[in-house]
Amino acid sequence: MTAISAFYSRVRKHWLSPDLAVIGQRRERRMRLLTSLVMLVLGVFWGVFFASRGLWNIVLMDLVLVACGLGVFVLTLRNHPRSANLLLFGVLMVVIVGTALVLDPPSAAAPRATHLYLLPLAVGALMAFREERLWLRYGVAALSLVLFVGLASSPWSPVTGYGLPDEVRVIGSWMQAAVAMGMLFMLLYILQTDTAERSELYRDLQTALREEQFVLYYQPQLDSHGKVTGAEVLIRWQHPQRGLVPPGEFIDHAEKTGLIIPIGHWVLKQTCAQLQAWKDDPLFGDIGLAVNISQNQFRQPTFVSDVLALIEAHGIAPHHLELELTETLIVQDMEDLTRKMTALVERDVRFSLDDFGTGFSSLSHLKQLPLSTLKIDRSFIFDVLTDTNSKAIVRTVIALGQSMGMTVIAEGVETAAQRQFLSDNGCSRFQGYLFSKPLPLEAFSAFVERHNA
Ligand code: C2E
Ligand code: CA
Ligand code: CA
Repeated sequence: MTAISAFYSRVRKHWLSPDLAVIGQRRERRMRLLTSLVMLVLGVFWGVFFASRGLWNIVLMDLVLVACGLGVFVLTLRNHPRSANLLLFGVLMVVIVGTALVLDPPSAAAPRATHLYLLPLAVGALMAFREERLWLRYGVAALSLVLFVGLASSPWSPVTGYGLPDEVRVIGSWMQAAVAMGMLFMLLYILQTDTAERSELYRDLQTALREEQFVLYYQPQLDSHGKVTGAEVLIRWQHPQRGLVPPGEFIDHAEKTGLIIPIGHWVLKQTCAQLQAWKDDPLFGDIGLAVNISQNQFRQPTFVSDVLALIEAHGIAPHHLELELTETLIVQDMEDLTRKMTALVERDVRFSLDDFGTGFSSLSHLKQLPLSTLKIDRSFIFDVLTDTNSKAIVRTVIALGQSMGMTVIAEGVETAAQRQFLSDNGCSRFQGYLFSKPLPLEAFSAFVERHNA
């Protein structure tokens, strides 16, 4: 019976209600792959057709289409969706307009039809560039529409003589219209479903906040004697239907919709409440908690006063609270960053730099900022024993941190050999599955009792 219910909950989790943002990405990926294949097939088909008629200029254009189809295909497979989208839309626009002008000038027998593809292209742009800046998203869509109107209202053609014979164009224009309209309806349908799904996730997250469906897990951080010195606080979503949802599946969406601000505040408040509960406990009184702070959350003008108000309200020692910032955050707006960090550090709050080594922060950034901890990203720890680059990076980061008077913590330590390498090179703080996965509060308390008593 338990096996059946476990199976049912897996099916439910993965098929009935998988992560909506991920579904959207997969769908977009499939559509891009499909479009690039259509570009390839059409390019080859028309290339052969025009080669047989000796129209080499047009064959050249078809070859460009084939090359771009291949480019989009490869970029999509290699997970470069942005470049794939830019190439796809740039090429499609040029090809559609070029074909409409050169091969498809309207005649008395058959109207122009190729420009109809600009309509699905406009809707496609609204979807493909959803995460981009507004000018790009709406700019591509608006340009497609302007070109559509221009081509629909003018019979102009820059060169003549390449147009297909009227008998072919009469059938062709019906087919083109049917295909373009089919594509338009399909894309509109997907756009509408996608928007609804996204807002459903948004509504779900709002409900989660209101009904306190979030829970905090604590991943122990240990010193070289195996004593727990603190923990990283990691959020999870206890979803009524889907079970425990990891942050990777909703933090991004929360960032994009601004919900990360109330969620992040909730995490900080709970963390302060936890530190308050431990305050006078001989075993837990020295445990520090590290909280992940998102970019949007940190940018809030009231961030500093919010944190200080929480510390005050809970009467906790500020140095027990560590705020984890990522490199992406620190390369932007150094002035605001330094001002806010300094204001908090003056009150004894600590800062750590998360995922260190993966971003683009420079040494001068490091020097300027009042950081107390560097966290070596787990991607370097993962292959520190086998990859010479990772080895060199890890050694350098440890030496760098030490020379700047910072604590260096390695995250993602999974094996005893990795831990040994790290201690041999002077790293004295560890976090990772070797010691423990992130734990719910009771399990974390038991872990501390086992290690620190
Ligand atoms: P992060 O800040 O890099 O957190 C560390 C992640 O590495 C955690 O994943 C943790 O479970 C995982 N991890 C720790 N040790 C090991 C190990 O030995 N091996 C492997 N493979 N993984 C390990 P988690 O909990 O899924 O969190 C993922 C990300 O979600 C975090 O990455 C953080 O960026 C974000 N996140 C989590 N909680 C919060 C939060 O309260 N606020 C914000 N803004 N972001 C959060
Ligand atoms: Ca972190
Ligand atoms: Ca990290």
